[in-house]
Amino acid sequence: MTRVVVSEFMDLPAVESLRDVFDVDYTPDLVDDRAGLLARVAGADALIVRNRSRVDRELLAAAPRLRAVGRLGVGLDNIDTAACEAAGIAVFPATGANSLAVAEYVVATAMVLLRGAYLSGNEVAAGQWPRARMSQGRETAGKTIGLVGFGGIGRMTAKLAQCLGMRVLAHDPALAPDARAWSDSGVGRRELDALLAEADVVSLHVPLVDSTRGLIDAARLARMKPEAVLINTARGGVVDEAALAAALQAGRLGGAALDVFESEPLRADSPLAGAPNLILTPHIGGVTRESNERVSSLIAERIRGFFRNP
Ligand code: NAD
Repeated sequence: MTRVVVSEFMDLPAVESLRDVFDVDYTPDLVDDRAGLLARVAGADALIVRNRSRVDRELLAAAPRLRAVGRLGVGLDNIDTAACEAAGIAVFPATGANSLAVAEYVVATAMVLLRGAYLSGNEVAAGQWPRARMSQGRETAGKTIGLVGFGGIGRMTAKLAQCLGMRVLAHDPALAPDARAWSDSGVGRRELDALLAEADVVSLHVPLVDSTRGLIDAARLARMKPEAVLINTARGGVVDEAALAAALQAGRLGGAALDVFESEPLRADSPLAGAPNLILTPHIGGVTRESNERVSSLIAERIRGFFRNP
């Protein structure tokens, strides 16, 4: 029987739908036991992962029967796609299935950071009344959001931001100036440095590849408006974390929200610890109940379809 190993959490009804046709080994914390993962994939025909299981040459060497990898998400930086292709292994990302979750995270954190007034719970509960300090919050409507990367998530974010009355700019070198994505969306095309200088909110939506590693470094952060906010839901390696922490500490940036980090979990001695106006979340931008259902059922369907018509 075809054997499917699932090494990270997946929506249970989707796991059950796989069990109807396959021999399924669903061990959501297998990702934290590398030796166990390498042992279990030895007999696997398919492997389903999120972003933490490294599907690299070592794992492929341990999985001689492997023919398909399902990715419960979209970034493929944890999967050696070239090695998979060379070995004839199909890779299925859940393209589009978590875009709305990320886009909502972006507009929500943009509003929180611009307004600057929602993180006062402890002070208010303690009887303090920081009203004067918190009365300088900014409205979102009329502000400019700059999207670095204008693919699936960038475009979804643009739509939500436009609904809020924001002006939207984007930078994406892969999209020609006359591409319909620009004219259909009403989004302004900019070079990266121009976007950084114009935007009140900068949101990153690029894959982590050689050309985007360290893209937002100290020099690029310095190009942003001093009160602008930065949101990173893409991948940690895209932002220089030490440079961002220094900019926040020095008051050279209005705030930031980071969902992804160079090293996950974030190390306790990270320079980001204690930086002001900083929202940190544990890589959940794309994960909601609804998106987990969509992502999981999409990947279950892809794996079923692959073994029906390989
Ligand atoms: P996508 O492939 O649809 O879009 C990525 C876009 O980035 C493409 O249009 C590409 O041309 C563009 N791009 C590539 N290099 C660039 C560069 N140097 N400058 C500007 N643009 C560049 O991908 P997507 O679905 O929009 O997802 C974007 C990224 O978001 C993923 O690769 C993933 O890393 C991340 N992501 C994170 C979460 C989360 O939970 N935080 C969830 C989903 C996706």
